[in-house]
Amino acid sequence: MDRLILWDIDGTLVRVGDIGADVFDRALERALGRRPPERVQMSGKTDPQIVGEYLAMLAVADPAAHVAGILVELEKELAAAEQEIRSGGRVLPGVVDVLKRLGEQDGVLQTVLTGNIAPNALLKLASFGLDALIDVTVGAFGSDHADRNALVPIALARVAEQRGREFAPAQVWVVGDSANDLACARAGDVRCLLVATGRYSFDELAPLGADAVLDDLSDTSAVAEILLT
Ligand SMILES: [Mg+2]
Repeated sequence: MDRLILWDIDGTLVRVGDIGADVFDRALERALGRRPPERVQMSGKTDPQIVGEYLAMLAVADPAAHVAGILVELEKELAAAEQEIRSGGRVLPGVVDVLKRLGEQDGVLQTVLTGNIAPNALLKLASFGLDALIDVTVGAFGSDHADRNALVPIALARVAEQRGREFAPAQVWVVGDSANDLACARAGDVRCLLVATGRYSFDELAPLGADAVLDDLSDTSAVAEILLT
């Protein structure tokens, strides 16, 4: 059975703790000499989108000229914080078993669809050994496009180019933890499973109209049933 599973990272596979937001403060301070007065809401947004919101908050002139440089700082700051990620972060319930279970299934390809820039996505996964369970290199990342809704076609193209595999929309799932994950699945005409392990509760996610909603990924058989049916 052919399935392409596009995993969101933060709030879906792992939670890295406050460092995930703090690296933006550190990167902005390095690039601009000042930290933002408050934090933007980050769930389901891409890194360049978050940086853009901070530049607007800080009223920086010609913001587009600053984004690439700040993303370079963001990569450096997260790499420097790897130990903090390991100590303050965690893999979410059921994730390892689900990735292994789906990995044993013929025809299933698992990769990521994430707002993180690619090096930071890799670092977050590798910090917990999850990079060994997912075909990370054919995923779609915040470094590919600032608009998450553009990322499903990018993942499909990368999978076709690099793995020689084509998937019909009904064979593709986005798994995420926010309304933005659902929006990008809908924009890409693929299915969506939402899990309440990020910022949003089951009761907040349930009315959004995803194809499936779960409290978490701890029931391996239930998750496999949803994604493989
Ligand atoms: Mg997320």
